[in-house]
Amino acid sequence: MTHHQGRHFLQIPGPSPVPDRVLRAMDMPVIDHRSAVFGELGKAVLGGSQKIFQTSGPVLIFPSSGTGAWEAAIVNTLSPGDKVLMVETGHFAMLWQKMARRFDLDVEFMPGDWRHGADPAAIEARLAADKAHSIKAVMVVHNETSTGVTSRIADIRKAIDSVGHPALFLVDTISSLGSADYRHEEWGVDVTVSCSQKGFMLPPGLGFNAISEKARAAAKTNKMRRSYWDWEEMLKLNADGFFPYTPATNLLYGLREAIAMMLEEGLENVFARHKRLAAATRAAVEHWGLEVLCQDPAEYSPVLTAVMMPPGHDADNFRKVVLENYNMSLGAGLSKLAGKVFRIGHLGECNELTLLGALTGVEMGMSLAGVPHRAGGVAAAMNLLEERSKANMPGHLKLVTK
Ligand SMILES: *Cc1c(COP(=O)(O)O)cnc(C)c1O
Repeated sequence: MTHHQGRHFLQIPGPSPVPDRVLRAMDMPVIDHRSAVFGELGKAVLGGSQKIFQTSGPVLIFPSSGTGAWEAAIVNTLSPGDKVLMVETGHFAMLWQKMARRFDLDVEFMPGDWRHGADPAAIEARLAADKAHSIKAVMVVHNETSTGVTSRIADIRKAIDSVGHPALFLVDTISSLGSADYRHEEWGVDVTVSCSQKGFMLPPGLGFNAISEKARAAAKTNKMRRSYWDWEEMLKLNADGFFPYTPATNLLYGLREAIAMMLEEGLENVFARHKRLAAATRAAVEHWGLEVLCQDPAEYSPVLTAVMMPPGHDADNFRKVVLENYNMSLGAGLSKLAGKVFRIGHLGECNELTLLGALTGVEMGMSLAGVPHRAGGVAAAMNLLEERSKANMPGHLKLVTK
């Protein structure tokens, strides 16, 4: 292994880099999770999480990865044999549907080309045809991390409502929450699944479910067995800031800090920053003469950009060249995209100069790996970011630049 000085550039779309402020906030003694002090921490993070999910309803926090939170969503709302409608947006949608089948759900999987999001019109047509209301849930991945495509959740909600279908709406926001605009309550989502190590800027280890009244009512009568993931057990103790089993105390310290950082910046500004960085990334990719995997500009992900390798070039070899020479990790192509795409994460603790460093590593790596491209993509990204900065510059700074 080559020895590298300086910070590693972790430009994968999760886990994302953890801000120093969050790391310091977690550097605390573990406390008694039945103590009054813990209760205050518990209440702070449960209340704070509601702001990030944009909901006034309960948010549950499990010591788990995102996969655990997927499972919690399923076992609390559905019964074996229930029909559910899912959409093949990419690798993560494939994994969630595999899990659903393991729980004996009758999955109808709408095929997709991995370059588009879930189609609201197709969902509407399918639900309209389901006159008997046999479909119990619609399950969609908001930001498909394997492709860099973001599905239009508000439009899917409208599609469900327009045909008056009573199905529950379950959404995976594992890589989007805290990076892309997402409104659990306004968009009428019943269960929003998320986790800590992507937009939340925390280490892995926390899984989230934000739930609606309708989802909670479904949990009272559904037939799926569960114990560890049971919402009601958790909600009973959460009322006073406590948990039914030992929570991930130090991750909760980190969560409190991460929520504070997002609210200080302002969620709107957080979302605008991600869009800006994503636009700059696409400007670079376009200049290089490469293709972004996502085909619909209305579905470009603000979280990551998946870039297609020119035919005859291996994305994994290119990523290895970048890692060995410039100490930067880029995301790999997953399952059927292996070797065909690489992914640039621009989420969480990321700003203009971090991104430009990352894009520089990509451009230099392409030269080293012999990937055909037009030089100057970084300059194209710089131009875009400069224009955006000029447009946003406060008045007192504009004066001195006259
Ligand atoms: C990362 C990811 C998952 C899996 O989360 P884990 O924490 O690895 O279990 C699921 N869905 C999406 C969209 C993801 O990005």
